Amino acid sequence: MISRLSTATTEVDPSDGHRHRLNVVVIGGGPVGLMFACSLAELMPAHARIQVFDRRWRHSSSGIDWDPAVQRRQQVVTLQSHDFCQLPPGLMQTLFETTYAEVWPLGPGSVQGLYPRNLRIAQLEDQLLQQTRKFAEINLHASSGDVRQALGQTPVLVIADGAHSDTRQELHTHFGVAEERLYRLADERVEESCLGLALHTNLSDAAAVVLSASQRRLLLNPLHGEGHLNIRLTPAEATGLLHALKHRPGDGGADTPSRISLGALQGTDLWPRLEEELCLFAVDTNRIRSCNWFRLGMAHQHRFVAPLLEANPAPWRTYGCLIGDAATALHIWPGRGINAGVVAAVSLARCLARQWPAAARRPGGFRDADFIRHEGVMQMLQYRHKSRAWRAMVTPDGAGGMEPIQNRLARSLAEPVDSHTAASDRETFRQTVHQLHGRLAARLPSQPNPGELEQVLTRLSARTLHTLVASGAWDGQLMGGEEVDLDWLLPSTPAPTGCPSTLLSH
Ligand SMILES: Cc1cc2nc3c(=O)[nH]c(=O)nc-3n(C[C@H](O)[C@H](O)[C@H](O)COP(=O)(O)OP(=O)(O)OC[C@H]3O[C@@H](n4cnc5c(N)ncnc54)[C@H](O)[C@@H]3O)c2cc1C
Repeated sequence: MISRLSTATTEVDPSDGHRHRLNVVVIGGGPVGLMFACSLAELMPAHARIQVFDRRWRHSSSGIDWDPAVQRRQQVVTLQSHDFCQLPPGLMQTLFETTYAEVWPLGPGSVQGLYPRNLRIAQLEDQLLQQTRKFAEINLHASSGDVRQALGQTPVLVIADGAHSDTRQELHTHFGVAEERLYRLADERVEESCLGLALHTNLSDAAAVVLSASQRRLLLNPLHGEGHLNIRLTPAEATGLLHALKHRPGDGGADTPSRISLGALQGTDLWPRLEEELCLFAVDTNRIRSCNWFRLGMAHQHRFVAPLLEANPAPWRTYGCLIGDAATALHIWPGRGINAGVVAAVSLARCLARQWPAAARRPGGFRDADFIRHEGVMQMLQYRHKSRAWRAMVTPDGAGGMEPIQNRLARSLAEPVDSHTAASDRETFRQTVHQLHGRLAARLPSQPNPGELEQVLTRLSARTLHTLVASGAWDGQLMGGEEVDLDWLLPSTPAPTGCPSTLLSH
């Protein structure tokens, strides 16, 4: 693998003595690493060679495939049309050749009247892997990749190895250490634990959306009745659960959910409460297919592009570029992780395609300023998505400050629920659900079945209603608004190759 890297990365295009082919190494073949590879191959046909390394792959008779020993991710993610429309046309077409569902309403993240689209991560990765096979420019490698070996041999090292990126950590002297202090309250880092269940529901997708947005304890992202449900746990629930399951401290993380057997979950003290709460989504508990536990926290990344090695004596100055969860891992509640990744992947591909013709002629290749627009896009993505995700973790405390939503949940679980409270909670939740439905109705791709929402409300227990009301509805007003405009800094039709844009604008 190492020798392949070094020969492949220094090849010169024989058709033009001045124009080298751009050789890029990508660490991580998750959705974002693959989207970047396909985007660059589509933007620079015959002028790019892209080597992608992933440790979840293996060699098979048909080439590179998923290692069957590795757990594929069944989480359902939502792609916003504002973001998927930025993908090159060939890639966008392949992505949606598979089954997807239109479930969520039109919003500021929608363009051309196109609804957001739900897909499983595993499906998305399968489509992307299939797309890579169409490009002679892309080589896949079933291994981790040797970062040190790539330095100086390739102008660009793309780091797309997920939220707990080993590569970013190895290169922390270049990128700096991500800052957690922005995501603290009362000097304590706000970090949450969630359970994720792959399950079947008899509820319509539209009802699932309205009920998800009416509270912040349970979030169901449906896909034609087969969906993925996330449950926000309180710190005490998480500790109790892990103790009961005998998990080692530190097990699981944002990108490495740890699997829990359903039998084990059903044996915990948490289960009777969950069973009641699952009535919100008409879940048949005999048809839960898998269960994962994971932690969610955020940190501020200082920079996304950094020079890693200077050109002399190496042939190329190597720049490291963080994209996807390695750059901006988000809390999952607003469902924008994959969208931030799409924009980052396309931004970097456009940036390289735009700057390479001039960089190829320059000794050492790229220079710092070549990445100014891409770094700008990444900083905007971080600001937009993390400020929204933070509002999915905390809520006003009524005294001008904020408190973690999980603390509010914990308080409500400790409170007694008498018949007066139960009646008032039922009425409050009913009003929230109907108001939300009223606000969303015109923008939803389909409507809940008649009487469906009312039926759900009647079967919820007093304890569940108290928890749901305490968690509060999503605050669409505060979380909504303008999305990052990639075209503003890196339009899809680039300036003529080799012609600096500053000259064009004068
Ligand atoms: C439980 C859960 C629910 C989610 N729900 C949503 C949602 O509803 N909406 C949404 O938009 N997003 C959601 N996300 C986030 C979304 O899944 C991520 O944003 C997206 O998967 C990020 O893609 P990525 O390619 O950057 O990273 P990953 O998907 O983490 O892929 C990283 C890849 O790098 C590989 N790798 C790691 N280390 C190395 C190495 N050293 N060498 C080679 N390869 C390596 C891994 O094998 C993996 O294939 C969710 C995430 C989780 C965990």
